[in-house]
Amino acid sequence: MKIYEKAPAKINLLLDVLRKREDGYHEVEMIMTMVDLADRLEMEELPRDTIIISSQAGYIPLDEKNLAFQAAKLIKERYDVRKGVYIHLDKKIPVAAGLAGGSSDAAAALRGLNRLWKLGISEEELCELGAELGSDVPFCITGKTALATGRGEKLQRIGNPPQCWVVLAKPPINVSTADVYGRLRASQLESHPSTSDMLSAIERGSFGDMCASLGNVLESVTLSLYPEVGQLKESMQRLGADGVLMSGSGPTVFGLVSKESKVARIYNGLRGFCKEVYVVRMLT
Ligand code: ATP
Repeated sequence: MKIYEKAPAKINLLLDVLRKREDGYHEVEMIMTMVDLADRLEMEELPRDTIIISSQAGYIPLDEKNLAFQAAKLIKERYDVRKGVYIHLDKKIPVAAGLAGGSSDAAAALRGLNRLWKLGISEEELCELGAELGSDVPFCITGKTALATGRGEKLQRIGNPPQCWVVLAKPPINVSTADVYGRLRASQLESHPSTSDMLSAIERGSFGDMCASLGNVLESVTLSLYPEVGQLKESMQRLGADGVLMSGSGPTVFGLVSKESKVARIYNGLRGFCKEVYVVRMLT
């Protein structure tokens, strides 16, 4: 039997870092939502006790470094599953882009293997397993829109943001999340985006206030390392996006656009100098 799971990309409408913890992680406040740009996982049971990963994308690891491999290994160990699995990753989400592609693949593998092997694991337990693989994995398991606190693993579901078009543009650089957090200095944390303003904008369904409340403290690090990310933000703003922000640790920049008539102009304008541009919707 084969089963399929979608692994959508996430964007951060807000990303704040409160402090560095003693365990090395950062205490964060993030408002995250999913968009309809997704990898697709095909999973098939193997009689031999082994995990095999394949992908059409030539640029991701296919061994134990792959997060879907790690998810399969973890669930097999914890639930004493002696069967194997073949997982094919049809990658559509750009890699090392700030869109949580790897985390979403891990989440989809956990959800899918729970179904494939009829393990009956609750969503809460899946999230606990996911947190062992990465801070964004629990959110990728539950999806929708959430406020994430702690190191990103404590989730509080919130209502859907006002619907709009989302233009994603990824400049041709790969950014390491660990490197960006490692370079974050206390002086860059003197001003913070307002989580309460963003929550209130979403609750009131105010698109304008949601755009005005976008904020990401990691921008100061990534933009100083890669000025092209700042230039991309400016271009998106100039082309008419209503709100513009870098997602996660970057380098992907997203623009929120309320009017469909503006989307083609922004897309075409960006495509002139950026090869990876996507027009998507938020998943509600
Ligand atoms: P985040 O927003 O959670 O920081 P990201 O979008 O910046 O994630 P990923 O696309 O998850 O980054 O990739 C980060 C690294 O993880 C890459 O260097 C890649 O080699 C590795 N990786 C492991 N498994 C996967 C996977 N299934 N898909 C993509 N990358 C993977």
